[in-house]
Amino acid sequence: MPDTTPYLPAALAEFDVDEIDAGFFDACLEHRLSIQRCQTCSTFQHPPREACSTCRSFDLAWQQIPGTGTIYTYTIAHHPIGPVRDYVPYTVIAVDLDGTGGARLVSNLVDPPEAVQIGAAVEVVWDEMTSERTLPRFRLRDESSASSGSHVR
Ligand SMILES: [Zn+2]
Repeated sequence: MPDTTPYLPAALAEFDVDEIDAGFFDACLEHRLSIQRCQTCSTFQHPPREACSTCRSFDLAWQQIPGTGTIYTYTIAHHPIGPVRDYVPYTVIAVDLDGTGGARLVSNLVDPPEAVQIGAAVEVVWDEMTSERTLPRFRLRDESSASSGSHVR
């Protein structure tokens, strides 16, 4: 994986973050994967919401998680349209996040598309798309030298 090539165009990082999402994106800027956890029933949830989707409590907090997981499902985008025309094929994955009891994050696998496999172990890498926006991507986890928190570029 090259250190200097963005996984997807920086233009895709130009979106608004509201007060509910801010905890997630602020943690990403610090290279921490942090998701909402209900303080009433302990359920993790993602994407962030105003209330717990399990018990409807408003008592939610951000909890840092390991940044590892397994691929639940995936799709490979081949259609060269709009801002992604020079970036296909790219792989979209849903990751079962370790340490969350089943919360999932939709992201991308930075390895070549042919390497994707349901059930594969992955770890987060940080894509500093702009000075204001860092997004989590994932790479296949090398079980012999597992570490997390490295950079996409
Ligand atoms: Zn709850």
